[in-house]
Parts: sequence; C-alpha cells; structure tokens
Amino acid sequence: MVALRRPNDFGGRSGLHAVGLDLTRDIYLRPDAGGMTLVGSSENVFSPSNPDDYTQGLTEREIAHFRSMAGGTIPALTRAVPRGGWAGIYDDTPDFHPILDKLPGYEGLYCAAGFSGHGFKLSPNVGQWMAQLILTGTKPDDMQHFSGWPSSFLLARNLMTCNTLPLTGLSMVGRYAHAINLEC
Ligand SMILES: Cc1cc2nc3c(=O)[nH]c(=O)nc-3n(C[C@H](O)[C@H](O)[C@H](O)COP(=O)(O)OP(=O)(O)OC[C@H]3O[C@@H](n4cnc5c(N)ncnc54)[C@H](O)[C@@H]3O)c2cc1C
Repeated sequence: MVALRRPNDFGGRSGLHAVGLDLTRDIYLRPDAGGMTLVGSSENVFSPSNPDDYTQGLTEREIAHFRSMAGGTIPALTRAVPRGGWAGIYDDTPDFHPILDKLPGYEGLYCAAGFSGHGFKLSPNVGQWMAQLILTGTKPDDMQHFSGWPSSFLLARNLMTCNTLPLTGLSMVGRYAHAINLEC
C-alpha cells in the first residue's frame, strides 16, 4: 500500500476522486483524508508469505513503481508526493472463503478468519452470524457453507486450489503449506 499526497491542483486536501481497480496495472486506489490517495497492489498476491516474518515495508523502487502505475490510471498522480507505504498479508484459505465456526477442543473457542481480501466488507454480516452462533449455538443457513473444522472444510469445500490433499491424516500440502497444517 502506497500513500500519495495528491498535487494541489488535483483536488488538494479536500478533493476526491473515484475509487478504482485497474486490472491492467494490477492496482487499486481510493482517496483518503487530508489530500491523500492510497494505492494498493494485487501483484504477487499468490506468493506464499510467512505471517510471522514478512517484509512489512516497501522499497523506494516499489513506491516509485506504484506511483507510476497510479499515474497511468489517474495521470495527475504522476505528480503526487509519496508519503511512505506498508504491506500486509492476505489470510487465504484454499477456497478463498473464510472459516466461520466453533472450534473443537476448547469450550467457547470460535474462529472467524481467512477472509482473503474481503474482511472489511463482509464484517457486518460476519459479526451478526458469529453473534448468533455464540449466543444461540445455531447458524443461519447461509453460514453453513463456511464451516471449517476439519472434515466438512476439507471434504465439502472447493479444494481445487490445493496442490495435493492426502486425506490420510488430514494434512494439507501445497502452496499454503506454511499456513495450513491440519494434523487432526
Ligand atoms: C493489502 C490488503 C488490502 C485489503 N483490502 C481490502 C478491501 O479493500 N476490502 C476488504 O473488505 N478487505 C480488504 N482486505 C482484507 C482485510 O484487511 C482483512 O480481511 C481483515 O483485516 C481481516 O480481519 P481479521 O480481524 O480477521 O484479521 P486481522 O485484521 O489480521 O486482525 C488480527 C489481529 O490479531 C492480532 N494477532 C495475531 N496474532 C496474535 C497473537 N498470537 N496474539 C494476539 N494478537 C494476535 C494481529 O496483530 C491483528 O491485530 C485487505 C487486506 C490486505 C492485506
């Protein structure tokens, strides 16, 4: 994510521009408060990351690259001033849908994780569903699809993105190997 301060002649501190997703340049962007534009990238999003040890900042080269890409989408942004950047990781599941469920083994332990790039926009509904599950022990029908642990997730969900799925021992190996190790 790169923060760009927009040039004064392009909206200045109070100006706005459209929220955009530019698939030709692998970026998305939106205006932020104070004359800033935030530019995110979808480059290399499928490269595995170690959530305990990943690069959280951006290099000068990456910042320059994403400013240049943003300038391709909105030409005035070629004159924007970079104000730093940061990186996060997508917590993907094999089918890119979250796991919303009660977890076995510990009373009162629930899971709402694995939202890929959709955690914010799904959160109002997810909050309601999880509240119902926690308070009543029941799930709305639509929530059943997001069951997680372990057999329903492994067998009922779309696992085509896994490289291999040896069901004996329920261990999942593939590009998500660092993140998913279901030794049950
Ligand atoms: C670059 C990027 C762009 C995104 N864009 C969008 C978007 O446009 N729209 C959208 O809807 N979603 C987007 N997302 C996804 C969204 O950010 C996530 O789905 C959402 O933040 C996940 O929320 P969460 O509460 O599950 O996890 P997190 O926000 O990751 O929260 C988990 C928290 O747990 C803490 N934690 C971790 N381990 C421990 C521990 N052992 N002990 C105590 N605390 C711990 C972490 O520090 C963190 O604060 C984007 C994600 C990324 C990375």
